[in-house]
Amino acid sequence: MSRTPLAVAVDIGGTKIAVGLVDAQGRLHEQRRTATPAAEGGQAIMAAVLDCARPLLDLGGDRVLACGVATAGVVDAAGRIASATDLLSGWAGTDVKGAAEQGLGLPAVVVNDCHAAGTAEARTGAARGARTALVVAVGTGIGGALVSGGVTVTGRSGTAGAIGHVPAPGVAGRRCSCGAAGHVEAHASGPAIERSYQELTGQALGLRRIASLARSGDPRACQVITGAATLLGQVLGGAANLLDPDVIVIAGGVSRLGSLLLGPARRAFRAEALPGPRGIPIRAAALGERAGLVGAGLTALHAHARVGGAPVVR
Ligand SMILES: [Zn+2]
Repeated sequence: MSRTPLAVAVDIGGTKIAVGLVDAQGRLHEQRRTATPAAEGGQAIMAAVLDCARPLLDLGGDRVLACGVATAGVVDAAGRIASATDLLSGWAGTDVKGAAEQGLGLPAVVVNDCHAAGTAEARTGAARGARTALVVAVGTGIGGALVSGGVTVTGRSGTAGAIGHVPAPGVAGRRCSCGAAGHVEAHASGPAIERSYQELTGQALGLRRIASLARSGDPRACQVITGAATLLGQVLGGAANLLDPDVIVIAGGVSRLGSLLLGPARRAFRAEALPGPRGIPIRAAALGERAGLVGAGLTALHAHARVGGAPVVR
C-alpha cells in the first residue's frame, strides 16, 4: 500500500458483515468478514462491526482518515436507520454514525448499501464516465441508485432509487416485502423467481438449479425467468423514460443469470422505452460483492475531502 489516504469501509448485510480499507481510487485492501448477529438487535450488530473493523485501524495507521458504512435499510440524513428489512431485527432506529464514530474514533458517513454500490459502479465500475447512471441490484430484494456526477441521489428521506417498489405491470399483485402489493420486487427478485417456479411446477428449487434447467432448455424454467426479466425490463424502460440516464447497470446475485436475464430484460426495455432512451446500454455490474464496501469507502473519503479533512480523534 502506498501513502494514499484510506477509509475503513463496512458493508452490513442480512447474513454477513464485510470490512476493508478503501483508497480514493476505489481499490480495496485488507478485506475481512464476520457473520451478522441479525437476530440480536442494533447494539449487537454494531459491536460485531467494531470488533471486525478495529484491526484495520492498526493496519492503515495514520493514512486512515474516515469511516464509511453501507447498510441494508433506509438511512436518514443523521446516519441513523430510518427503516429496515425484517432480516435485521431491531436495526431500525440504530444510530450507526454515532456508534461508528465513537467506536473507531473516525468521522463516519452511513449510506444505504444499494446507494453505496451505485456510487462504486459509477466511479470505478460499469458506469464509469457516465454523467448519470441508474444502478439496479437484483438479489434477495431489488434496490437501486440514481448516480449523478459520481454522487448518488438520496432523495428527501433517503429512499431515492428504490426501483424494486415500483408497481409491476399486468401481474396479479403478490405481497411485497414493503407490505404493498404487486411491486416488481415481489415478482422479479431471486426468491420471487423461485416462488414462481414452485407455483408453476409444484417443485421447490433454488435459483441456481432453475437457471441450469433453463440453460438446458426446460420450458417452465425459461418461462419463469423470462417472465421476471420482462417485468424488470418494462420497469427499467419506464425509469429510463423518466430519468434518461447514460447507462443502466444491473448488479446483484440474480444478475449472474447473465443472458437468461439480460436478453429478455433488454427486449422488454426497448419495447417500453421512448425513442431517446431506447438506445441506453444495459450492462452487467463490474464490481460484484465488493461494490458496497468500495462505495462506502469512496463516499467517506469524498465527504472527508469536502469538509477539508476534519481532525481525527482517537
Ligand atoms: Zn414494495
